[in-house]
Amino acid sequence: MIKASLVIENIDNLITLRGENKPRCGKEQSRIGLIQGGLVALDGDKILYVGEGKLPSTIGTGEDTVFIDARGKLVTPGLVEPHTHLVHGGSREHEFKLKLQGVDYLDILAAGGGIYSTVEATRKASHEELYQQAKKSLDRMLAYGVTTVEAKSGYGIGDFATEIKQMEVARDLNESHPIDLVSTFMGAHAVPREYLDRSDDFVDIIINKMLPLVAEKRLAVFNDVFCEEGVFTIDQSRRILQAGQALGLRAKLHADEIVPLGGAELAAEVGCISAEHLMAISEQGIKDLAQKGVVAVLLPGTSFNLQKGRAAPARKMIQAGLPIALSTDYNPGSCPSENLQFMMSLGSLLLKMTPDEVITAVTINAAAALGLEEEKGSLEVGKRADIAIFDVPNLEYMLYHFGVNHTDTVIKDGKIVYQK
Ligand SMILES: [Zn+2]
Repeated sequence: MIKASLVIENIDNLITLRGENKPRCGKEQSRIGLIQGGLVALDGDKILYVGEGKLPSTIGTGEDTVFIDARGKLVTPGLVEPHTHLVHGGSREHEFKLKLQGVDYLDILAAGGGIYSTVEATRKASHEELYQQAKKSLDRMLAYGVTTVEAKSGYGIGDFATEIKQMEVARDLNESHPIDLVSTFMGAHAVPREYLDRSDDFVDIIINKMLPLVAEKRLAVFNDVFCEEGVFTIDQSRRILQAGQALGLRAKLHADEIVPLGGAELAAEVGCISAEHLMAISEQGIKDLAQKGVVAVLLPGTSFNLQKGRAAPARKMIQAGLPIALSTDYNPGSCPSENLQFMMSLGSLLLKMTPDEVITAVTINAAAALGLEEEKGSLEVGKRADIAIFDVPNLEYMLYHFGVNHTDTVIKDGKIVYQK
């Protein structure tokens, strides 16, 4: 008889997301595998049993089995954050007042603020300073029920040593922190000022110097580009993504955030695992992404914080059969918040997604945006024992009662790593 190491019992609402290990689209995005009166048993870092009522007779317990009573609570897979700019120096609260006064971001940028001030602060910060700042954010994310986080480089902007420093901090945090970190190289986040009139030369540097070293040092799994008017063009983005793919780095793309440049179409063409932002996506872009099964990672916190009254057309995307994931986009400029639960509420309030679609978007679909759907994102036998317990009577309550932290307990690889 197998002995369970941990048992969560009397679960009022257990959301399993059981089903195929692939991104869920269309109506599938609402199939959350709800069990009322559920039970989950773990064997170390793996899930041993998920079902109703009591443990089956084939599974035993011992003196050292940990029991958690989840009466009146909601249990879900550990939440997954597929898009953050976690490792960075400084903060930008000094721009908050300017923003409220209506000062344009481009004017802030021209005065050396905006992303350039984060670049400056990240360059100046030591490995240890960046590590401590990012650790604080990761602790917060864990407290919100998050067990896996993607972290991008991208604040070197031409200074490769800073890019490497960011990715090394992410690597060290992955080893020391309970949260699993997945690293993305984003050398193409902005064009350095000295290359503004010859950006192709900078693209060559990324392709010939940076990407080969990132791949050789195994500092990242993904390669991402900010494809946008005035940043990197479609052709430049294609070159960078394909050069990364040739080195084994899977492609992601910041696409169609501000203008419909054709970023979504490009993401489908080159076979990106995910396309992100998509506030200005075209009809064709939606079709292309849906056809190729690319996960659309939407970032409603950024829409909320930018206050431009625009958001990604999530309903259209779901109708077109496009799998949707949600994330914070945590970064010091457009979304300085680690609160994924708030983003879930915004997924409903701003993007008009149903609570069922939202929970899928931060579990199995978010895992799929990171290529981790085989091991994470749903509660099924044999998958990783990453589990969040929320002190709410049901999922709707969690999204409706917005802005606060509902987490009761977080389990990572079978161990309790956070308790209220
Ligand atoms: Zn981003």
